[in-house]
Amino acid sequence: MPLSFYNTLNRRNEEFTPITAGEVRLYTCGPTVYNFAHIGNLRAFMFEDLLRRFLKYKGYKVTQVMNLTDIDDKIIRASKEQKKSLDEVTSRFKTAFFEDLDTLGMERAEVYPEATKHVTEMVDIIKKLLERGMAYEVDGNYYFKISAFERYGKLSNINVADLKIGARVASDEYDKESASDFALWKAWTPDDGEAFWETDLGKGRPGWHIECSAMSMKYLGNHFDIHTGGVDNKFPHHENEIAQSEGATGEKFVNYWMHCEHLIVEGKKMSKSLGNYYTLRDIHDKGHSPKAIRYLLIATQYRQPLNFTFDGLDAAKNALTRYNDFIRNLKDYPGAESSGEADGFIERARKDFEASLDDDLNISEALAAVFDFIRDINRLKAEDKLSSAERDRALETLDRFDSVLNFKTEAESIDAEVEELITKRAQARKDRDFATADSIRAKLDEMGVILEDTPQGVKWKKRI
Ligand code: AMP
Ligand code: ZN
Repeated sequence: MPLSFYNTLNRRNEEFTPITAGEVRLYTCGPTVYNFAHIGNLRAFMFEDLLRRFLKYKGYKVTQVMNLTDIDDKIIRASKEQKKSLDEVTSRFKTAFFEDLDTLGMERAEVYPEATKHVTEMVDIIKKLLERGMAYEVDGNYYFKISAFERYGKLSNINVADLKIGARVASDEYDKESASDFALWKAWTPDDGEAFWETDLGKGRPGWHIECSAMSMKYLGNHFDIHTGGVDNKFPHHENEIAQSEGATGEKFVNYWMHCEHLIVEGKKMSKSLGNYYTLRDIHDKGHSPKAIRYLLIATQYRQPLNFTFDGLDAAKNALTRYNDFIRNLKDYPGAESSGEADGFIERARKDFEASLDDDLNISEALAAVFDFIRDINRLKAEDKLSSAERDRALETLDRFDSVLNFKTEAESIDAEVEELITKRAQARKDRDFATADSIRAKLDEMGVILEDTPQGVKWKKRI
């Protein structure tokens, strides 16, 4: 089966064909930087990391753009409440966002454009919409005229026939029932404080939706392959992006729209407004490792809601331990006479892993293939039926999988220091200097290293 994705626009699974052979241009709606990202937001970003990594695994050259929303209603509200400039509100959360990406082992996108640096591009689109009769002005505010865009409502499947012609909505976020002409540009009011630009449209600021139209088309062209976000972005954000972009250019905007279901807590969407959220730091502080959080966030197929629980996090940790123990033990295995079975297991694992992810990123099945593989190779090893060449091929296979999963712990980076401490500890024990031996053990424990006494000597591994 070829690579296929569920395309929200057409409400069905479709084979993926890029506009330019071998290349994928991908836009992923980024964070609104007025607070730390919560793990619900991070689930959306993690789905995009999986998508990106699998496209690369398939051999595509990926150009991913993820915007930073550093101006919108929520940020202006925060800046007013905290009596801080926009930049004071957003800059620390921009830094925190990149720290979160690194902590969770996400690959960096090619471009992270900031809305405040692209106001000129936004104004240009609004001017085009005015020229084409798709926008109008009322008291310095500019609105998109949805009755002028025939395809309005196609992505989120709303019935435009019921809409009141000429009704307007000024705020960035609203529900389907309030669908109406929406703000492209908002004239300055005293509430906006310092948040304004002097432009050909007057003194004011952009609406949220125009930001993503401007930044996606600037870096990916008027027509590109994939656009993603959480399901809450479908309406109005993405619906409005399509209207603005296609209204201004007359070209098709995006071929495939992919939306990630929510991370939920006790049946409710995790969100800042409900206050039922955890940041990555909260969970880390409770002693859970970033890799376990990564595993948990990635392991449920993106179109299924993910119910967050701490039990789920413990299960993720156990799965990761199995995965990493397997690699570590296999590396140490000297090899025996082959029974000729290993290559069949390798082949089947590769096929199942790829076929599962080809099917709209079915990660649960892909992981089942990985763990079946681990079980099969472990059996061969236990029965001494695995040659050293087969061992190496099995490790290479897992490395390929890991380029998509990134579940491998980075024990290698602390190798040298740990080995030295272990040698010192052994010497201290030999000298019957148990105080030193214990203090070294405590230090290793602090570094997250677990020691195991085996007949071959002391072995160690990194705690997950
Ligand atoms: P925001 O910072 O609010 O603009 O959101 C950033 C991304 O996180 C968007 O793609 C949202 O759709 C997504 N998102 C927000 N809440 C959740 C959630 N509970 N589960 C999954 N994705 C979410
Ligand atoms: Zn967006």
